[in-house]
Amino acid sequence: MKAVLFREHGGAEVLEHADFPTPEPKTGEILVRLRAAALNRMDVMVRSGWPGLKLEMPHINGADGAGEVAALGEGVTGWTVGERVVINANLGCGQCDFCLAGQDNMCRDWRLLGETVRGTYAEYIALPARQLYRLPDGFDFHAAAAAALVYHTAWRSLIKRGDLRAGETVLVVGAAGGVNTACIQVARFAGARVIVVGSDARKLALAESLGADVLIDRSKEEDWSKAVFTATNRRGVDVIVDNVGTTYPLSFRAARKGGRILTVGNTGGAKFEIDNRYIFAKHLSIIGSTMGTLKDFAEVMALVTAGKLKAVIDKTFPLAEARAAHERLARNEQLGKITLNID
Ligand SMILES: [Zn+2]
Repeated sequence: MKAVLFREHGGAEVLEHADFPTPEPKTGEILVRLRAAALNRMDVMVRSGWPGLKLEMPHINGADGAGEVAALGEGVTGWTVGERVVINANLGCGQCDFCLAGQDNMCRDWRLLGETVRGTYAEYIALPARQLYRLPDGFDFHAAAAAALVYHTAWRSLIKRGDLRAGETVLVVGAAGGVNTACIQVARFAGARVIVVGSDARKLALAESLGADVLIDRSKEEDWSKAVFTATNRRGVDVIVDNVGTTYPLSFRAARKGGRILTVGNTGGAKFEIDNRYIFAKHLSIIGSTMGTLKDFAEVMALVTAGKLKAVIDKTFPLAEARAAHERLARNEQLGKITLNID
């Protein structure tokens, strides 16, 4: 098969469009003929590498993918060759106490597709059948691939971990990334009022088109916590989506007493200082999560396939041009998701 792989860590130039052995589905696995993949920030991080990351080279990037069932491994029932599917990238072992309790995103042997396991920048991938969600006939592969990881993550964080309720106010720190745009839409779907802090007018216009109620341009208001306070009649917001990290000092100020701060990432860097006085004096909760469970995936993909939640697609590149796609992501030019077309 054709795949985009890398043999060593480095810049986008290490990505090669090359031949790679087509995987064989093992017992319980399904072979998928991929038609679309979607990029995540993680892809660039994995390609660049970090201390302690050990991959079996060559590695194939990609957590998100959609395509057709191509072959069934031994023991797989209930699936037919040719069915359209989207992939759940959260890989639980299926056997540990967490997996058996339905908390497979906390699996003892947890893995993320494309991170330490070869991913979706390829014509074929073999995965346990439980990792696949059936798409309706004719549902666009790119719409499915672009939605999978970001909506899975946003749904878990806002609805399950954050317990978001209709009528609450949500602040999303960041306007244009995949997870943040998904959070804006999940929050609107849940009946919340949404405030978005973004870095420029173009990104804020996207947030507005997704239903954000209040837009704050941080290039004009460095201390945006004041604008948030004003927008909430000096009450502060109920729930804050902060996947930047270094913005916590402002998020703490923007939160109401008893507010919840949700985090699924740290685009601003891993380590930063926080002022603990805000946490106890304002009764704040900081709530982390990563990906979501099999149940979360089925719930949120049902909403995606019903058209109630829709991923924003920035641009589509052919698989062979994955390098240009990575460069676009690294430059932060994208509005929404970048996808790869796999003929
Ligand atoms: Zn497990």
